[in-house]
Amino acid sequence: MSVGQHIPFGLRPDGSLIDPFTAERGLTCNCVCPGCRLPLMARQGDILVHHFSHVGNNNCRNGQTAALLLAAKQVLQSHRRIELPELVVTATDEPRFGRPRQKTFRQRQARWDFETVQLERSVAGHRADAYGIRADGSAGVVEFRITAKPMS
Ligand SMILES: [Zn+2]
Repeated sequence: MSVGQHIPFGLRPDGSLIDPFTAERGLTCNCVCPGCRLPLMARQGDILVHHFSHVGNNNCRNGQTAALLLAAKQVLQSHRRIELPELVVTATDEPRFGRPRQKTFRQRQARWDFETVQLERSVAGHRADAYGIRADGSAGVVEFRITAKPMS
């Protein structure tokens, strides 16, 4: 089993996530993979860090990423706050008539505090991971990107 198949959170029937330290051992955790929705086992051995894994062999490729993405969205929704690194943002305006225009600017490191957060909201024809309204009435759109450094 590769590390990529170690799933850090299981999805419970009520839609909440559970960690493998809190869950009951094995299939009694009663949770499924956030990626493929197949049953998971809570692995609580003495050698590897506790994690969830699928039962038997399967072709799930995104269980780990789906679990981390879902956890990030639930944390944002419950805390309504996110720390942003410095970003280079490129925005494209595509008017109905005329040529598309692009603008690139540097967004300084910041903290966004939201009054409200909606997950999976449609914004300009795109489904955003999260959409929030700040105290000054301005909107913020959050897209999470899960990345990993290659193992050395
Ligand atoms: Zn899966």
